[in-house]
Amino acid sequence: MLDRPTSQSAWQARARSLVVEGRAFVDGAYADATSGRTFERVSPVDGRVIAAVADCEAADVDRAVAAARRAFEAGVWRDLPPVARKTVMLRFAALIRDNLDELALLETLDTGKVIGNSLAVDVPFCADCVQYYAELADKLFDEVAPVGPKDLAILRREPLGVVAAIVPWNYPLIITAWKIAPALVAGNSVVLKPAEQSPLSAILLGRLALEAGIPAGVFNVVPGFGTKAGKPLALHPGVDMVTFTGSTEVGKLMLRYAADSNMKRVSLECGGKSPHVVLPDADLDAAASGIAWGIFYNQGETCHAGSRVLVHRSVHKALVEKIIAVQREQIPLGDPLDPAAGMGALIEDTHMERVLGYVEIGRAEGATVACGGARARTETGGYYVEATILDDARGDMRVAQEEIFGPVLVVIPFDTEAEAIRLANQSIYGLAAAMWTRDMAAAHRCSAAIKAGTVWINCFDKSSLATPFGGFKQSGFGRDRSPHAVEKYTDIKTIWTAYR
Ligand code: NAD
Repeated sequence: MLDRPTSQSAWQARARSLVVEGRAFVDGAYADATSGRTFERVSPVDGRVIAAVADCEAADVDRAVAAARRAFEAGVWRDLPPVARKTVMLRFAALIRDNLDELALLETLDTGKVIGNSLAVDVPFCADCVQYYAELADKLFDEVAPVGPKDLAILRREPLGVVAAIVPWNYPLIITAWKIAPALVAGNSVVLKPAEQSPLSAILLGRLALEAGIPAGVFNVVPGFGTKAGKPLALHPGVDMVTFTGSTEVGKLMLRYAADSNMKRVSLECGGKSPHVVLPDADLDAAASGIAWGIFYNQGETCHAGSRVLVHRSVHKALVEKIIAVQREQIPLGDPLDPAAGMGALIEDTHMERVLGYVEIGRAEGATVACGGARARTETGGYYVEATILDDARGDMRVAQEEIFGPVLVVIPFDTEAEAIRLANQSIYGLAAAMWTRDMAAAHRCSAAIKAGTVWINCFDKSSLATPFGGFKQSGFGRDRSPHAVEKYTDIKTIWTAYR
């Protein structure tokens, strides 16, 4: 095994020698798209092409779904004793850990996220998630319903069959693991459609799953550009469920596709515009740290990024100064291959332009640019935007309503707690929120009133595989993580026996 690079130049050298697999993974083997077509994957780090990726479309989706169905009906996975599925999944988690450097490098080159985070967070969290659900495999009990002394009604949880996982580009490994691990542990077959901007780590997972002992056909990966693979997959009559993470706009399409095809189950994790509420008695240093990390980590390309700060007018200016200081000292923008970098590149040029466009929209709407606001590191050929704060905003501005999905924080001052709650809920989204205050009565009063899937109090983005994650309102429904996540990959069958 190669030593782990420890410097920017060593990671750059490793990147140059990396051999990247771009083919689909179907029925236990790598395969070109049926058409033979590929699309270029351009790295946001420097604008260079890093891979030719199989451009799968309907014919490839048909092959993958057929393989998944065959494997499911043959029972090669679902009929294994749970403890055997556990052993295989534990091996899968171990192989992910064994391939830490390669997976982390692929993730960084594909998405522009900094290598330090890929190594310390993305790959380990993916492995941890696979392990968490592996360990659950032989701890899931069915139920017996209370129907009386002469009958036995068993409520049996059964796998659905073929699950399509359609995932976004911002945390490819983590979100993929949140979907595939509980789906597989429940006994389903899976067809994974990674985002066209970040297919490379998913493609490697295909080989690792097979190596771990997941039988051919049980786990398939079909990359495809735009909607070419995703749409036929979501419309496919042979798919029993779509588990989706992505934008609210495309999430709504998933509901339509389900209705237009076979009424497949749909689970949606969609967009967010998460608010921080900072009351006047808050520990401002802690709040500034939580807020800066909550928006600038992963360049703000996080669904639950704390992208709106609602702050009491009395502490407004002091808080903004502290947030700027935390970003400058602790989360510097740099080369994603530099272990010292805190923020990296945005996913693609069009997204960078979109984010910069929002800065202009904010200015035109009357917000003040307190820091950043411009493209950075242009000479690299990559897609970088400075950490940006749009201050003195109002709740009804577009920049306060729409998901920017970049390193842009919108700050809105308020005068009363009631106003803060109204502003927090003035959104179509309801993914997450945070309260910053020393007054626990106020913290709990407000967290009860805020419509969000997670409310953090005096912290931000604390997470555990034991806690469900997902949204209220148009942030979606269905939860990833925790034992609850397995339920949605199963149906309940009632088996009623009369034995008098
Ligand atoms: P997106 O909705 O554009 O794409 C998500 C996935 O759907 C990709 O694989 C894409 O190729 C596919 N897709 C796009 N159009 C499709 C169609 N018509 N039919 C079938 N598949 C289609 O989202 P994105 O830009 O990749 O990711 C960013 C979005 O994801 C943001 O809105 C973010 O908030 C959201 N997100 C949500 C969560 C969460 O847990 N709630 C987590 C991460 C990201």
